[in-house]
Amino acid sequence: MTHTVEHFIDGKRVSPGSGKKCDVVNPATGEVLGEVGMEEVAAADCAVASAASAYQAWSQTPVGDRCQVLFRYKELLEKHFDELTQMIVDEHGKTTAEARGDVRRGIDCVEYACGAPSLMMGRTLPRIAVSTSFSREREEGIPLDSSLERVPIGVCVGITPFNFPIMVPLWMWPIAVACGNTFVLKPSEKVSLCALREVELASEAGLPPGVLNMVTGGPDVVNHLLTHEDVKAVSFVGSTVVAKHIYKTASIAGKRVQCMAGAKNTMIIMPDANQDAAIDGVISSSMGNTGQRCLAGSVAVLVGDTPDWFIPKIVAAAKQINVAKGDATGCTMGPLIDDASVQRVNNAIEAGIEVGAELLLDGREVKLKGFVGPTIFDNVPHDSALAMEEIFGPVLSILRVDTLDEAIAVTQRSPYGNMAVMFTDSGYAANKFKDTAGAGMIGINVGVPAPMAVFPFCGWKDSFFGTLHSNGEDSVRFYTEGRILVSRWF
Ligand code: NAD
Repeated sequence: MTHTVEHFIDGKRVSPGSGKKCDVVNPATGEVLGEVGMEEVAAADCAVASAASAYQAWSQTPVGDRCQVLFRYKELLEKHFDELTQMIVDEHGKTTAEARGDVRRGIDCVEYACGAPSLMMGRTLPRIAVSTSFSREREEGIPLDSSLERVPIGVCVGITPFNFPIMVPLWMWPIAVACGNTFVLKPSEKVSLCALREVELASEAGLPPGVLNMVTGGPDVVNHLLTHEDVKAVSFVGSTVVAKHIYKTASIAGKRVQCMAGAKNTMIIMPDANQDAAIDGVISSSMGNTGQRCLAGSVAVLVGDTPDWFIPKIVAAAKQINVAKGDATGCTMGPLIDDASVQRVNNAIEAGIEVGAELLLDGREVKLKGFVGPTIFDNVPHDSALAMEEIFGPVLSILRVDTLDEAIAVTQRSPYGNMAVMFTDSGYAANKFKDTAGAGMIGINVGVPAPMAVFPFCGWKDSFFGTLHSNGEDSVRFYTEGRILVSRWF
């Protein structure tokens, strides 16, 4: 009998109801690992109720004590590192190395959250004024002091995508609970097993029942949570089309909202670039995680005579990629997440051929079910879907231009603004690019400029909706309210 993925509510696993289910599939083998309840609205209500009732005691628990649980949780993540890595390989399909990166970058976020006692500190300005009106007996007057405190906001909800099953939930809930909030996580239905284990380990570390809950589900569950009267804040990571819906719906319902969304990232390669670094950077950016990353550089803009050296080297490097099951020996690229993704990527390749782009390497030649190999197009029309739309697969589109300004114009035209990268030896070109590219995360001679957990994940334009991003100082401000105190003592 197929195992149904449980919810985690009030400190324990809870069986889902009888509504519609969807399969959790190992994308490399097609094996069904379990099924997930998609219409778990009643469970979502229980999770919010549990989080709301836990909030009273948790928000009053000293921040240092809250962080002790996270220190223990970090130790548990280290202890279960290999188990979590293998779960990602099985449920998502990443290579073992990529899965290890997913867990490691997630642990970084827990470590950051352990600093909440410093991060949450407010500010004080003594003697903002002196009042004399009630101080007949004190000639020097009575001082007014003022301070800003940061306090938690209540029940927060996190809705996460499939592509970083362990890390992206850890962008959200550790810092939220460290700041004194309670949390309901709704992970992607494609990777709920990983999320369940992540949440369960937090309970094992000593997080009290109700502080962190998880419900499985799809759009019905999300939409219910977005407008729930006991939910104060919503964090979302996923595609732009869903992000727009979530930002609008939750904002109208009066929630604080942050939505990290989709992307189409450009990499400019100047003729003077360090060739090995550029090839290495473009390969890892475009093909890493089988192209399923919001920081995937999927468009390479070649300036001047760059194509002379870049084209032969990039094709040779892509041919070295070993497509296989993520934990197979020597594997450097795993499958796509599901059949729908394979279809979407194949359609994008077909559309590229139709608009006249030159197919240098065709990933469809990899004849493994669930897989598309490295794909490279040259001479891609600048306004085509290949150049403008997120594909979320291992497809690199090469555009050619004559000048630096034309290259920068390509990045500026994109509706997205997650990241932009330049490979060059020129400080002038790099500085001009940084200031004008129109993206929130810039890489100079770096293929994937992923910020460490201490910095915000700074997408711009259609890659982000909100004011405060996830991670870093932004996340502390997102998960806390400022409170001003003005006081005087007679
Ligand atoms: P997705 O938008 O399909 O799903 C994300 C979450 O939203 C899931 O939990 C899903 O159940 C839910 N959802 C899906 N459709 C919904 C609907 N109609 N109404 C309400 N909820 C809905 O995204 P995905 O395919 O899981 O992830 C890939 C996307 O995430 C890519 O676009 C990628 O660029 C983006 N992403 C962005 C970042 C970032 O930080 N900017 C990070 C990782 C991934």
